[in-house]
Amino acid sequence: MNDSQSAKPNQETNAGAAPKKPPSAPRRHLLNLTLAGLPELEMFPTDQERQVALQEIGEEAGSPASGGFWFAIAVIVGTVLTTGYLSRWLLSVIDLPRFVKEMLQIIICGAAFFMVLRWLHRSGTAKTLREKLLARGVPVCIKCGYLLHGLSPATARCPECGTPFSERVRSILVPPGSG
Ligand SMILES: [Zn+2]
Repeated sequence: MNDSQSAKPNQETNAGAAPKKPPSAPRRHLLNLTLAGLPELEMFPTDQERQVALQEIGEEAGSPASGGFWFAIAVIVGTVLTTGYLSRWLLSVIDLPRFVKEMLQIIICGAAFFMVLRWLHRSGTAKTLREKLLARGVPVCIKCGYLLHGLSPATARCPECGTPFSERVRSILVPPGSG
């Protein structure tokens, strides 16, 4: 009895009506928070493309199989050990109660841990974001993230950092006057 409803008229031709979209997208990836402020995030043509890119990055990173994972672990361990050693040496020349020194050392090592974690996360993801931008036709320097809109395809190097462009970047650059 219910199958008379299966025929839906103008269900898919409704796209042109463009239902009003709330200014904040409903599903925001967690990476929006940890990467807040990265200029690469603002270079995506639409928020939808940004969220898709973040989704992909979230799936690619974070697995021990990915190349950078163990490198990141090594950098973090190295930083914390170095900071711990240096801070103990620094505190040894200051006259403070023992428990204060221990507290300070824990705080310094903790701060170093979170700073290097954040730096690794953001610098690694920034490069991945640039690759995603290039894949979507947004010309951006893979080395420094400089936005290359308006540059002639004859340009050989990034005006910001001097990195030579790959074929891929040059193919995206639009000749002046044709855009
Ligand atoms: Zn550059």
